[in-house]
Amino acid sequence: KKWVYLFREGNASMRDLLGGKGAGVAEMTRTGVPVPPGFTITTEACNAYYENGQQFPEGMWEQVLEGLKDIEAQTGKRFGDPSNPLLVSVRSGAKFSMPGMMDTVLNLGLNQQTREGLARLTNNPRFAADAYRRFVQLFGKIVLGVDGDRFEHEMDEAKGHGQRQDTDLTTEELLALAEKFKAIIKEDVGVDFPEDPFEQLRAAIAAVFRSWNGRRAVDYRRVNKIPDNLGTAVNVQAMVFGNMGNDSATGVAFTRNPSTGEPEIFGEYLVNAQGEDVVAGIRTPQPISKLAQEMPEVYEQFHQIAKQLERHYKDMQDVEFTIERGKLWMLQTRTGKRTGAAAVKIAVDMVNEGLIDRATAVQRVDPHALDQLLHPMIDPAARKDAHPLTVGLPASPGAASGKVVFDPDEAEELAKTGEKVILVRVETAPEDFHGMVAAQAILTARGGMTSHAAVVARGMGKPCVAGAGDLRISYADQLMTVNGTTIRKGDWITLDGGSGEVFAGKMPTVEPELSGDFATLMSWADEFRKLGVRANADIPRDARVARQFGAEGIGLCRTEHMFFEGDRIDAMREMILADTVEERRAALAKIEPLQQGDFEGLFREMAGLPVTIRTLDPPLHEFLPHDDEEIEALANKLGVDPRKVKARVESLREANPMLGFRGCRLGILYPEITEMQARAIFKAAVKVKAEGIDVHPEVMIPLVGHVSELKLQEEIVRRVAAEVFAEAGIEVPYLVGTMIELPRAALVADEIAQVAEFFSFGTNDLTQTTLGLSRDDSGRFLPIYVEKKLIPDDPFQTIDQRGVGQLVQIGTERGRSTRPDLKVGVCGEHGGDPASVEFFHRVGLNYVSCSPYRVPIARLAAAQAAL
Ligand code: ADP
Ligand code: MG
Ligand code: MG
Repeated sequence: KKWVYLFREGNASMRDLLGGKGAGVAEMTRTGVPVPPGFTITTEACNAYYENGQQFPEGMWEQVLEGLKDIEAQTGKRFGDPSNPLLVSVRSGAKFSMPGMMDTVLNLGLNQQTREGLARLTNNPRFAADAYRRFVQLFGKIVLGVDGDRFEHEMDEAKGHGQRQDTDLTTEELLALAEKFKAIIKEDVGVDFPEDPFEQLRAAIAAVFRSWNGRRAVDYRRVNKIPDNLGTAVNVQAMVFGNMGNDSATGVAFTRNPSTGEPEIFGEYLVNAQGEDVVAGIRTPQPISKLAQEMPEVYEQFHQIAKQLERHYKDMQDVEFTIERGKLWMLQTRTGKRTGAAAVKIAVDMVNEGLIDRATAVQRVDPHALDQLLHPMIDPAARKDAHPLTVGLPASPGAASGKVVFDPDEAEELAKTGEKVILVRVETAPEDFHGMVAAQAILTARGGMTSHAAVVARGMGKPCVAGAGDLRISYADQLMTVNGTTIRKGDWITLDGGSGEVFAGKMPTVEPELSGDFATLMSWADEFRKLGVRANADIPRDARVARQFGAEGIGLCRTEHMFFEGDRIDAMREMILADTVEERRAALAKIEPLQQGDFEGLFREMAGLPVTIRTLDPPLHEFLPHDDEEIEALANKLGVDPRKVKARVESLREANPMLGFRGCRLGILYPEITEMQARAIFKAAVKVKAEGIDVHPEVMIPLVGHVSELKLQEEIVRRVAAEVFAEAGIEVPYLVGTMIELPRAALVADEIAQVAEFFSFGTNDLTQTTLGLSRDDSGRFLPIYVEKKLIPDDPFQTIDQRGVGQLVQIGTERGRSTRPDLKVGVCGEHGGDPASVEFFHRVGLNYVSCSPYRVPIARLAAAQAAL
């Protein structure tokens, strides 16, 4: 069986067998990039090693020796030969890059004799001693498992605790260190450092195989959902030396700037250094631009290779290189990770450069990554030399500054006076909601990405950093301490909800850039997508934002949100407390003009586009005061007996309001409510139409289970529309439809569609009613379900395709069976979730509707679903 592939025998498509690193060096070798010769031991060999009771499989070692011969032939050096020694690196490399796997062993093949040979040959004893010192150290730590701190301690001692750098150590000092290291090895693990290069190689290969099942690697795989049976490959490669003097160096680079996407090489290098010195921060590396001055020819070659690799892979690469006495060698290449902003710029630039087509560009950008771009961010100039106080979870993106407030009531009061505040809590609860509304941003010490604070903040499009464990908050003293800094109430802080960083003081922020490359990419996305994208917006301001983000209409306007504003709640309460139809009508008459005004605003903002307005939905109890003091105040205002108010509040209390007197049930018992809302809608429509603006109202009846319910409500809406049109002498085209948010409605969709002109799946409620799961009460156990993988995702974030999704599919099919041109959309949180959007595309919906800030994410996800 073939266990070993020479680099020149492999290629980029062999990642399964050769691992990512092996496939990368093979591809570079194949395409003529200078790579030190070597070979890859396959991932299959790793798996066979385990099946074989941790023994190399039959024939593998012989093939390794063959591979070594090939390297010897190419380099003219010989492994273990003091007169001209070949040294190799032994590098692990699984299919997916995995921190937590074995590190790389460099300079393998050195012993007393070969070190002397190397010194003679290079005429550079110090270099040979440095290589030797490094090898004993790495081999001891990585292969033999000696505690690395013991070596570091000796190094530190030798350098005089920071007085000298590693490059200052003399040959003698380096050799003395190597001997000390050997003694440490003997003492720590009781074995002699192996002098035989072949023994070194065997041990290093076995150590790479074993590292596949090391604790860190196993944990990493579990967290990142990487299967355990992939195995790791092992790369054995001729060493090239970046530590041969000042004409030698080692470095890492991206072929474009990974944070901005600028098409310039971005990276760092260290002169006279080896391997991981750059990452380890032994000395401060220099920016790659410096290389252009110090070694112009090498830089030019590097630049050419970077371009070549980009052209070859058609994507930005993350590369590792070493310069040995002025000669450049490439050691690794892989697709580079990047920020959302860089992803957009690189994708657009590469289309303009003719490297990729528009479809590829659209697929290159992760819709989730757009989130970072759609919110204000800390001015990059200000952020450069700022150090965060601490870093928590990036729970909701965007940046904001404000004065620290620990109490939600206080947050509300201060905000009313025009102050910018940031609400800081150990964790938040529903009763803190008003404080969260008032705050610019929210910071919590406890809680995860699905904590109350995180979920609510995301819903409101407000920045939130959650679970910042370093915070010590004292509500009593109205201060917090964080890593030695004390922040008091009223002090300014700045949060970056996209990175989780918390800064002291007030930092300038910049608004998201919705033009330029972003707009270009979005326009390309629009070329491909089939799914429409609307926004959930209740007020004109949100509608305007939504339109800027490219919404093609409003998919859900929740009229009840308007009732909470200002004095309107009084009229609403009066309506609820009314004893007779007449009293109720009188109260509704006060609300009607206010509603009409709101709708006019929405219609103007959405000129030419459909606006879906849902009739009153929540349980009436939500509008009523709950404690005695408030009840008393309300009674006084209305001039009624407090006992009467109290009795009414009591009578409206429900054991299970989510399944109680709400949705269309309100309009069926109190048809005058639906009537008032319909009148407000159509009066607004004719008025705005008279201004010459194109209006398309769509009236949506919530929580329908039986077609008879919808029929009753539809009749009211149509009657009122006819009345208003007759009165105004203006007609407006409109639709009447329903939300599908009960399983029964999905099942009898064929009946419902005989009345409904459109469906909008309310997937939040449909998830609750299908799973029998209250969203507000699920926090205690749902995260554990996800963690234990009982369910793949939080069903309130990503739609449960098998269950809830099936109802969406059934409802759509049955609905269209009786009304072929039925328009079908979705207006739950899922409308802005890329995985869910993909599903909605697949089952043939007409549109999704999501919060304004998620509109671009949905547009991109819809395009990717269509490609
Ligand atoms: P990682 O996966 O941690 O990046 P690598 O196997 O890429 O580990 O090795 C880390 C570094 O070691 C490389 O970036 C390079 O600087 C150095 N290195 C590895 N192999 C060689 C080699 N054959 N010659 C010189 N340096 C090498
Ligand atoms: Mg590497
Ligand atoms: Mg609902």
